[in-house]
Amino acid sequence: MKAEIIAVGTELLLGHTVNTDAAHVARALSGLGADLHHACVVGDNAARLEECLRAALQRSAWVITTGGLGPTNDDLTKETVARVLGLPLEEDADSLRRLREYFGDRPVGENQYKQAWLPRGSRAFVNRVGTAPGCAAPAAGGGLVIMLPGPPSELLPMLHDEVVPWLAQRTGACIRSSMVRTFALGEGDAELRLRDLTAAANPTVATYATDGEMFVRITAKAAGPQEAEALLAPVREAVCRRLGDRVYGVDVDDLESVVVPLLLQRGETLTTAESCTGGLLAKRITDVAGASAVFRQGLVTYANEAKTCLLGVPEDLLARVGAVSPEVARCMAEQALRRYGSTWGIGISGIAGPGGGTDTKPVGLVHIALSDGQRTWLRVMRPHGRYMGRAWTRQRAASHALDMLRRAMLGLPVEMEA
Ligand code: ATP
Repeated sequence: MKAEIIAVGTELLLGHTVNTDAAHVARALSGLGADLHHACVVGDNAARLEECLRAALQRSAWVITTGGLGPTNDDLTKETVARVLGLPLEEDADSLRRLREYFGDRPVGENQYKQAWLPRGSRAFVNRVGTAPGCAAPAAGGGLVIMLPGPPSELLPMLHDEVVPWLAQRTGACIRSSMVRTFALGEGDAELRLRDLTAAANPTVATYATDGEMFVRITAKAAGPQEAEALLAPVREAVCRRLGDRVYGVDVDDLESVVVPLLLQRGETLTTAESCTGGLLAKRITDVAGASAVFRQGLVTYANEAKTCLLGVPEDLLARVGAVSPEVARCMAEQALRRYGSTWGIGISGIAGPGGGTDTKPVGLVHIALSDGQRTWLRVMRPHGRYMGRAWTRQRAASHALDMLRRAMLGLPVEMEA
C-alpha cells in the first residue's frame, strides 16, 4: 500500500514550527505496513495544496494531511480536499453535537461550525482535545485522503486511538521495527561491524547518527505481527551482540530513561554538581517519571564562589588549576556526594563557548567526574579542533555523565576517550 503525507501550514515552511506531525504519521504508517514514498510540506494556500493533492493521488492510495482543519479562514484543507475529490461538504451530525458539547454554555462562534462539515462519505475521527474532527474521505479507486489536525496534542491521540486501528483493518502487511541506541560509538565503526546486516532487505538495518549518539533501526515486514517479530528478533540480537556494551538500550527513549530505572532497582541516589551544563543534567534526570526516588539534588555551581560556598571546593585549588580541570570536576563530584549524602556524585566543569577558550583550555573542553565515595572516575571531552556549539557541548557533556553512571552501575569500564 503506497502512502504519502502532506503537512499543511505556512509556519512549517517558515521554520517556526518543526514538522513533528509528519514523523508521528510516518512511524504509524510504517507500523501498518504502508510504503511511504513521499512526504511534503505546503503553505496555507489552496492552489498549491490542490497541486500537491492531485500529484499525491496519482501516486498513492493513502494521502494523509496534517493541519488546516480549524475554524479560521486560512484553515482550508477540508475544502480543498473536497474540491479535488469532487465531493460536496455535508454537515456531520455527530461532529456538530461534539462541537456543541465542547463549547458547553459558551457561545459557538459562527466560524466554528465549518469544522463539523465533512466531505460526503467521510469517516469522522473524534478530536478529544480540540474542536476540529479528523476524517477519511473516499478517493477514486478505493483510495483515501485522511485529514488530521495540526496541533500534536490533538493529532497524536486521534492517530493512535482512532486512525491506526481503523486503517489496520484494511491492510494485509505488517511492519515491526526496533531501535538499538548506543552512546560513544562512531557511525563508521558501527557500519563496519554491521556491514552484512545493512546489506539485507528484510529486515532492513540502518544506522543514524544524531546529537552525538548512534542509533540502529531494524525494520521487518511480514504478513502479521508474529511473523514480523520472528524476523526482527534474531537480527536485533545480532546487532546488540556486535555493538556490545556501547548499546545502552533497545526501544528506549534516551540515556536518562535507562539510568533512572537502574538507580531505582539498586535503591541508590544521586547528587549532581554542574557548572557549564547549567542544570541540564538535573533537568534530563528529572524528565524521567519516578526520578524523585533517586535524585537528591542538583547544584548549579557556575561561579567559583558557588563552587567554594556550596561544595567546599578549595579556593587555592581553583586558583592553582582553574575551574575547568580534572581536579575541580573530581572535587565537585566527591563533595556533592559527601556534603549532600547520596550514593553517587557527579561533577561537570567545562567551557561551553563560544567564548572563553585559551590555547591550553579550548572551547568545548569539559571534564566530567563520577564518584561513589570509594572511587572517582574521570572523562574529558576534547573538541579536537571541531567545536560543535554551545548546545551540543552541554548536551553531550550531560550524556557522558549519564553514560558514566550507567557503566559504573553495570560494572563496565567507565573511563574512555570522549
Ligand atoms: P486548529 O484547530 O488549532 O486550528 P488545525 O488543524 O487548523 O488546528 P493548524 O492551524 O494548521 O492546525 O496548526 C495549528 C498548530 O498546530 C500550529 O500553529 C502548530 O503549532 C501545530 N502544527 C501544525 N502542523 C504541525 C506539524 N506538521 N507538526 C507539528 N506541529 C504542527
